[in-house]
Amino acid sequence: MNRWLAGNVFWPLTERLMGRDTMRRFRALTASQHWSVNELAVLRNRKLRRLLNAAGQHCPFYARRFREAGLCPDDPNLTVEDLRRLPVLERHTIRAHLHEMTWIGCPGGAYPYSTGGSSGEPLRFYFDRPRQAADWAARWRARSWWNVRPGDPEILLWGAPVELKTQDRLKACRDRLLNQLLLSAFDLTAERMDACIAAFQRRRPICVYGYPSSLALLARHALDRNLPPGGLGSPRLRAVFVTGEVLLPHDRQTIERAFGAPVVVEYGCRDGGLLACGCPAGRLHVPEENVIVEVLDPSTGRPVSPGQTGDVVVTNLDCLATPMIRYRTGDLATFGGHGCACGLTSTTLLEVTGRKTDQIVCPTPQGLKHMHALSLIYVLREVEGLRQFRVIQRSLNALDVEIVPGAPFTDQAEKSILQGLRQRVGPQMNIRILRRERITPTASGKHACVISEVKS
Ligand SMILES: [Zn+2]
Repeated sequence: MNRWLAGNVFWPLTERLMGRDTMRRFRALTASQHWSVNELAVLRNRKLRRLLNAAGQHCPFYARRFREAGLCPDDPNLTVEDLRRLPVLERHTIRAHLHEMTWIGCPGGAYPYSTGGSSGEPLRFYFDRPRQAADWAARWRARSWWNVRPGDPEILLWGAPVELKTQDRLKACRDRLLNQLLLSAFDLTAERMDACIAAFQRRRPICVYGYPSSLALLARHALDRNLPPGGLGSPRLRAVFVTGEVLLPHDRQTIERAFGAPVVVEYGCRDGGLLACGCPAGRLHVPEENVIVEVLDPSTGRPVSPGQTGDVVVTNLDCLATPMIRYRTGDLATFGGHGCACGLTSTTLLEVTGRKTDQIVCPTPQGLKHMHALSLIYVLREVEGLRQFRVIQRSLNALDVEIVPGAPFTDQAEKSILQGLRQRVGPQMNIRILRRERITPTASGKHACVISEVKS
């Protein structure tokens, strides 16, 4: 697809068809990134008051919370500092109060969403079009720092469905119009990885997007195949954007070596939104027009100083469906303070830690298949009544699935877990479902919900 057409016609068109004003927001963010700290604060406080007003009016849960904290959403002098009077919002609180903290009739409609992500605690909530548009606009602004524009050819190494439904076929068609090619991170056999290498060499994308562990796996495979350094990329590749999990230092090196391009972190979560993006000076900038990101000391709950690590707590200023106000994401990040060598004034993070997922390895008639952990998480997070889960691959053909069932959990739900996992991992895997009272962190203190004990 012609780059100009993809970027100037099809991207704006699909966004408009989805009911998202992404392009307008992208232009606004492009302008506001050069604002002073004070100008940004004025905008942020205005959006915060709008959010608190809507939440207080339409969500009984928040009306109660504000009353208890002595917070008046109508107060014209309300600032981010006042937000700290509210308690931090935990996952289990959302699970218990979802309906009274959701505004189903919010402008543009509320859409159900579920996440189990990295923590293994499934969560259902509602998002809306403005939040999606805000995330996309922030993503495009961050890509512009790397000279990547809408419509530039892109390859995604990403989650893909096992069987294509009509909706997936439509998505594939849309991807072509937008100059995107999706390669599955869920079935990386040696043969599939060779096909991925061929796709990269044929299309010579301007940017690459995917899970760091999957991209590192492909990069290692390419180098093992004696592809020269940079052989997965081309002179026109500007950056490899990674997201969804922690980027390990040796994975960064391997990806950079194989692609011959910088690796850039995009940090976000389904429930909180797009929270920070890497700049050429190596910091992660928070899109403060869209989100308030606090990094809090786990023991005192106070903001940490630059250079210190703490819990990431987010307030999304654009989501009115299920407002996320001081929501603890479960991630840890190192706070970077304000300002950066790249010239942007926004708050920065130095690093995000504490979300690591392992790859699952399955024997198949064609040899070993590597699968990103999300492939299994996708199955588990859709199951009604599951409070928490953890998947541990004990050996090449033994998979233990620990589950903490909730009130509506049925035998049928357990059956659907087995079926879904079987479809992913194939007939040769021995799957055990183990019911637990609770799931405790592993000896290393990791809260990862998919763990592999198989040495690669
Ligand atoms: Zn910067």
